[in-house]
Amino acid sequence: MELRPADLTPESWLVAAGRSPEPGAPLNVPLIPASNFIIGSGREYSRDDGTPTWEALEEIIGGLESGKAVAFASGMAAIAAVFDQLATGSVVVLPDDLYQGVAGLATAGGDRGRWSVQRVAVDDTAGWIRACGAADLIWIESPSNPLVTVADLEAIGAAPRKPGAILAVDNTFATPLNQQPLDFGATVSLQSATKFIGGHSDLLSGVATTRDDAMLRGLKKSRGLTGATPGTFEAFLAVRGARTLALRFQRAQQTAMTLAERLEKHPWVGRVRYPGLPSHPTHATAKRVLKGFGSMLSFELRGGAEFADGVCRNVRLVRHATSLGAVESTMERRAGIPGQEHLPPSLLRLSVGIENADDLWADLDSAIRSSAP
Ligand SMILES: *Cc1c(COP(=O)(O)O)cnc(C)c1O
Repeated sequence: MELRPADLTPESWLVAAGRSPEPGAPLNVPLIPASNFIIGSGREYSRDDGTPTWEALEEIIGGLESGKAVAFASGMAAIAAVFDQLATGSVVVLPDDLYQGVAGLATAGGDRGRWSVQRVAVDDTAGWIRACGAADLIWIESPSNPLVTVADLEAIGAAPRKPGAILAVDNTFATPLNQQPLDFGATVSLQSATKFIGGHSDLLSGVATTRDDAMLRGLKKSRGLTGATPGTFEAFLAVRGARTLALRFQRAQQTAMTLAERLEKHPWVGRVRYPGLPSHPTHATAKRVLKGFGSMLSFELRGGAEFADGVCRNVRLVRHATSLGAVESTMERRAGIPGQEHLPPSLLRLSVGIENADDLWADLDSAIRSSAP
């Protein structure tokens, strides 16, 4: 009998899913570098019909969210496929804090007259509920990037929506281990699998998951027509990364809590944003909607951009690099990124990896002290 996600905890599903049950089949899904297949099985051309390698990734992530998953070339490709479902003249509502690529995509489409864009603060639950009644695409990213603000998905998902409206949740920071947007009523849940699922900073991949048949068909059609298909090698690596996701993520979020608590007491550190801290403005919401607080945090220094840039130069174990969700801890000053100039100038976003917590703390503390003005 084949395993079903409902029979297993997510930790076991991540290890067990996406494998062939056939005697003699390789234990791991192989890399299948095929554009076309011998006609007769219904699988003819990869761009339209997929490959067994992508399908393994889709089975793993779809099962985690109790939906059907569609894998894409990157997180942005998956996200663009959701926007591709909109009719001209649609109303899109975005959070005030979100991944700059999504803001850029929405703005570019808005500038071309494809849709209009409104903004609601991540924690303005009443604002989101109002938006649900009027918008065609309600786009939520929670916890948000880089302020790690948590939206009340429970309340927003239950709010009445305009018929046909899409509630999309970028679940990259939470991963399906910490948050199940489809359970809260979202139409589609998105993952940049480049981040936690891949987990090793060595691939680009994205996955959209839904329980809505029309959305599933629309996403697959959009993937085929735009050619935003996963690379075979990347899908293989994403599957390999997914095997250890639970272990990596549990360790990283434990360490993130430790570092957030220590940073909060540091004489040179100002505001620390981590949903697990009681001082975080959306801590109560986080406790209710998330199963864990994740491994992303941001903090401000008691000083300006130069101080923060110095800390980035002086860390050794933590890497001064963009992106997140990998085994190695990475940190960057977000206000230095085009489109992110509105952020506090000294705000550093830290993606906590799986290194030892005390080693990470020693590295951060020493980089902060040696860069202090
Ligand atoms: C990285 C990221 C994306 C985009 O994913 P890519 O795989 O880089 O295309 C979207 N949303 C969030 C929250 C991200 O962190």
